[in-house]
Amino acid sequence: MNELSPFLQAWYITMKAGAIIAVALGILIFLVHNLRVALIQDFKAKYDYINTHEVQWYKWSFYCFGAAIGLLINLYGSGERVLNVVGVWFFVRIFFGVAGATLVSYVAKLILQYYYPTKLHEKLKKWRYMPRVNPKTGNRMRLLAEDEEDVHLDEGAKSEESIFSIDYDVWIDDKTGDVQIEKYQGHLTALRCNNCGFYTMKVVMEEVSQRFEDGAPKEIIKHYKCEYCKNLRATAFPISRKEGDDFKKYKDSHKRNTRNIDAVRIEIHSVLSGKRYYEFSTIEQAQKFLEEFDLDKSPKP
Ligand SMILES: [Zn+2]
Repeated sequence: MNELSPFLQAWYITMKAGAIIAVALGILIFLVHNLRVALIQDFKAKYDYINTHEVQWYKWSFYCFGAAIGLLINLYGSGERVLNVVGVWFFVRIFFGVAGATLVSYVAKLILQYYYPTKLHEKLKKWRYMPRVNPKTGNRMRLLAEDEEDVHLDEGAKSEESIFSIDYDVWIDDKTGDVQIEKYQGHLTALRCNNCGFYTMKVVMEEVSQRFEDGAPKEIIKHYKCEYCKNLRATAFPISRKEGDDFKKYKDSHKRNTRNIDAVRIEIHSVLSGKRYYEFSTIEQAQKFLEEFDLDKSPKP
């Protein structure tokens, strides 16, 4: 018996075809997702789409590649003339195929869940702070920096159990006073975990911690939990009561735009002690550092 059994012949053809289809499907999912992102004109809509769909679509894409690897493992030894009828080896190979596919999918899933959010964060930030253009006039709008620490409560969800705060980004057209408000769901935004450094910190619960005399919420506490290292954090935020038109009075207040700065680098030259470099993540930190800076006291970084 030197011929492959008809069953094995059909099996190998199926495995090859399946692997090609799975790879093609994986690439297709990746391309279709990116095409959809590219076709969304509105920056905020683009942000929302990427935030809610990207990781899921990329997972599907990698699952396809995982499946392809599982199928390819089932081609192992197909050229050897000894293994031409189905035996125990055949089922052992299926087992390794399934194990290989699972391993690849699992590793991809971990990367997308824990490592990828850091890259995603950069991408989302870009669309969130990309200067808006007033659709009515074509003027470039300015992002108000007021009340950065304040949060708003969602009108639709004021019942106690389902409070979830929202961040308002207010864009203003300084020439006409037109205001464009964009709402970002606080619990859908991943923050950087101070413990593990991944962008996997999300709000798990929010509670009203202080109220005005009339019972309206004054301050809430957001409870965060890191999805990776399970680190916990709680931060209090004052609740802003400003709504749409209130922001129009900020038309002429020219606050500085410092929101989308990622790093501030300070270089200090001294004839005696040479050059020193310092890095900060915000202007405020750098400012504070400069105010307190003393060449004799500061250690070499
Ligand atoms: Zn963490």
